[in-house]
Amino acid sequence: MSTSNAPIAPARLNAFPIFAKVEGRIVVVIGDGEEALAKGRLMAQSSADVRVISAAPEAELAGWAETNGVSIVRKAYDAALIEDAALVFAATGELKRDALVVADARAMKIAVNAVDRPELCDFFTPALVNRAPVAIAIGTEGAGPVLAQMIRARIDQMLSPQLGALAQLATSYRNAVEKLLPKGVARRRFWKEFFTGETARHVDANEFSQARRTASALLRERGEMPGHVALVGAGPGAEDLLTLRAHRLLMEADVIVHDALVPEAVIAMGRRDAERIAAGKRKGCHSKTQSEINALLVELGRAGKRVVRLKSGDPLVFGRAGEEMAALRQAGISYEVVPGVTAAFAAAADFELPLTLRGVSSSMVFTTGHDLKGATLPDWARLAIDGATVAVYMGRSIAADVAERLITAGLSPDTAVAVVENASLEAKRLFHGTLADLPSLQERSDLTGPVMTIIGDAVAGANFTRSQALHRQPAFSTENSR
Ligand code: SAH
Repeated sequence: MSTSNAPIAPARLNAFPIFAKVEGRIVVVIGDGEEALAKGRLMAQSSADVRVISAAPEAELAGWAETNGVSIVRKAYDAALIEDAALVFAATGELKRDALVVADARAMKIAVNAVDRPELCDFFTPALVNRAPVAIAIGTEGAGPVLAQMIRARIDQMLSPQLGALAQLATSYRNAVEKLLPKGVARRRFWKEFFTGETARHVDANEFSQARRTASALLRERGEMPGHVALVGAGPGAEDLLTLRAHRLLMEADVIVHDALVPEAVIAMGRRDAERIAAGKRKGCHSKTQSEINALLVELGRAGKRVVRLKSGDPLVFGRAGEEMAALRQAGISYEVVPGVTAAFAAAADFELPLTLRGVSSSMVFTTGHDLKGATLPDWARLAIDGATVAVYMGRSIAADVAERLITAGLSPDTAVAVVENASLEAKRLFHGTLADLPSLQERSDLTGPVMTIIGDAVAGANFTRSQALHRQPAFSTENSR
């Protein structure tokens, strides 16, 4: 390790990845234990004919070979046993024996790998994401297996578990596509739609006959399919609270229509060349009316775009998704809904606050509090009095009303209240107090981020070590002034 601050020169690959054809060919692994088992397992993911050479296989290796139909040649290693191999793995665990295998293989011009001895290897095996027939090989050369496994896990998560099935289906359409669609734009459009549109969605849902039907329709329509709108929950703001499905759809989107509350960092998780449209709607500055947004989604869908309608939190919680779905349904445009982490859950997590608590609260209310204005008390106020935990969305500007009406209705002024500004984000701030303190929220001009208020006895189970008191003492307060 060097302590110098000099820039690291750009590197070139010392081992270049290629794919070795092994179908029906013999791959030999020489060794008795763990190393041989690891390589055997790796190669058994291929259609190679795996042969293990081991005079005295350890139990685990023998058991694995047995259950997986892999043949073990129970003889001492001899050069004649690798003559017909396409690839050889020296996995004896002993330098001398591995070196002998390597020398023999090289003399026969067979590519050889010696486990954990890079200096003896002609090739390395990658960390593998296997969605046969799709394979993603990861190599990190000297940087080590931990890095490779980390990358492997990330890529694995990014890709649909059904990618292999989709690729297999694609293979079965290759000939027809080549016959029916001219090379160039039409074919590219077909495949793009095939891999990201309706067909892929059916394969993801294990609906193979529907997948075939849509693929065939696509072929008849020469690659021109109608658009699709996904109403996607972006979560409360932190990028890593996005679901994997939301991320995948964002990566496939032609257009991202997002709300003002969705942070730039989340939108940036989308495809780079996706068109972005801000649909606005922050309190006080509506940049587009709801019916304009509905019309926009319909128009984009009609134009054949893959649209992600990105909404903060969960799209079905105070997200006006009902209206957008109705418009899409009426226009006959296909759509789906992807749930997200709603603000109440993120705020509760930040506060370590149990939303349901044994013996204290067994129900929960999602409300805005804006319905507390009329003459009659909404049903949820009753639930609050009966012990439900209440999550108030968009409640900052009416905090006083909420508190006053609930107290009048019979909820104790001492009921615990938790307030989180910017839940899940680095800029989060936590406040605690009682229902009697809640009105002070309304006057605070320092709360500029979105605010979630949680009311109820279960709040008492939260962790208050990182929160401030909601009710700030006036600077010159005298005792008993309240
Ligand atoms: N669909 C969203 C809610 C949209 S309404 C969801 O499921 O979360 C907007 C309100 O959500 C805000 O006024 C605020 O009360 C709440 N909110 C959204 N993000 C928040 C955050 N990161 N922290 C606290 N409250 C948030």
